[in-house]
Amino acid sequence: MPFSKTGGLADVAQALPLALYGFGVECTIFTPLYRQAKKRLVDNGQAGERIRLDHPVWIGDEAQSLTYRVFSHLKPQVVFIEHDWYYDRSHCYLGVDGQDYADNVARYAYFSRAVMEYCRYVDDAFELFHAHDWQSALIPVYLKKLYAEQTGCLKPSLLTVHNIGYPGLFPAEQLYATGLDWDVFTHDGLEYYGQLNLLKGGIVWADAVNTVSPTYALEIQTAEQGMGLEGVLAHHSDKLSGILNGIDYSHWNPETDPHLPANYASRNRSGKKACKKILQYEMGLPVRSSVFLLGVISRLDRQKGIDLLLDAFGRIAGLDVQLVVLGSGDRKIQNGLTDLATRFPEQVSVEFGYDEPLAHRIIAGCDAFAMPSLYEPCGLTQMYSHRYGTVPIVRATGGLKDTVVDYTARRLNHGQASGFSFSEAQPAQLAEAIARAARLFFTDRRSWNKLSRWIMRLDHSWNASAEAYARLYQQLIETTQTTSGASHG
Ligand code: ADP
Repeated sequence: MPFSKTGGLADVAQALPLALYGFGVECTIFTPLYRQAKKRLVDNGQAGERIRLDHPVWIGDEAQSLTYRVFSHLKPQVVFIEHDWYYDRSHCYLGVDGQDYADNVARYAYFSRAVMEYCRYVDDAFELFHAHDWQSALIPVYLKKLYAEQTGCLKPSLLTVHNIGYPGLFPAEQLYATGLDWDVFTHDGLEYYGQLNLLKGGIVWADAVNTVSPTYALEIQTAEQGMGLEGVLAHHSDKLSGILNGIDYSHWNPETDPHLPANYASRNRSGKKACKKILQYEMGLPVRSSVFLLGVISRLDRQKGIDLLLDAFGRIAGLDVQLVVLGSGDRKIQNGLTDLATRFPEQVSVEFGYDEPLAHRIIAGCDAFAMPSLYEPCGLTQMYSHRYGTVPIVRATGGLKDTVVDYTARRLNHGQASGFSFSEAQPAQLAEAIARAARLFFTDRRSWNKLSRWIMRLDHSWNASAEAYARLYQQLIETTQTTSGASHG
């Protein structure tokens, strides 16, 4: 379990360094000592080795001291940056009003400087920096604009963009907190329509940038999906790539999942039938094995395309279909779902809130799982569905396009089909994809079962991702050594 979490980034930050070990890469994880993490350490009676440096860093005109808690016995090693004023707060990034904390630039400038200062303290034993999202996007900037100039030390950096929709956008005057000169605040630097854009700085100054799927790496270079950063991304396309996330198989495994009423494996799936029955019962729907049971688990956000589903369901309601939805978020989308459940009480059941055990039961108990996202950097739930033999029905975008191959009989026979997909974000197309899936379920159960069994064996473990990251790290280290050798020679 991650030390602190607001979303998928925490899972990646925990799972990737662990998987990298298998490829000979030794990482140190740096993270702020957020309240969640602090509580966990206190609860477990852990303090780590406390290190305090004897010099401060300047954040604006305030000298801030540097304190770390080092857990060197953990594999990988974790270094918490301790600064209670900045990090011991109820949420990592947002105040009670749901807006960014007013001092977020200072908080993450401090974090980035603290990381660099620790590395200097341990004598530059680090070969490469891997930064994630806007929170650490200043690290590549500091490496090039501060540390390389001050110390002559060149270390390569990689920036991973998990969702371009969150760029870290702040008023221009907050540049002061970073200690950087105004010469970085230009059209081809940190400036974005008069504001400070931290992610943009990372994109410009990192030696390589990647996103969490190959298709999303292409999509964010277009006006539809680039959220205003498409120009800068296209300009830097030679250093941009996509590497799919993996999923945590210790947590998502139908053979051992403690949240399921019955466990099962691809060779014996009778437990899946039991999961379906119990889920129908739990969600208050008629318990029938012949019905086509469709599931959705999602943040209720426009990004997730739930509006399409609300419209599409009316078009397929004539089929013997049931729908279960678990979600939390936008009030309007919740109301739409409640209306749908009222219109189709025998067919639709919705549950609002964040409920991890129920999420596992839905993934296991459903026949198919819908993700009609407008955009999806990687997406995890379609991969969980595969693992549980639940056929994903997705819009072909971002990571969904990279992980789900649309069913045809031929593709199934060639071991290629892994779900159903549609291209345009239109209710009619979603309805058609669900109807195609339902038709296969009703009329050709042998093929349906073959598909369901096949997807359970797909490999979405972190190994493939970790290998791709290890390769990229190596390239960056070698290129930096060559360039710095050339410039010294
Ligand atoms: P995103 O990170 O954009 O929300 P992902 O598909 O990458 O989408 O990851 C979402 C994760 O959150 C999945 O593990 C999903 O099962 C889980 N999830 C989303 N909403 C809920 C909920 N209401 N209850 C339980 N789990 C949820």
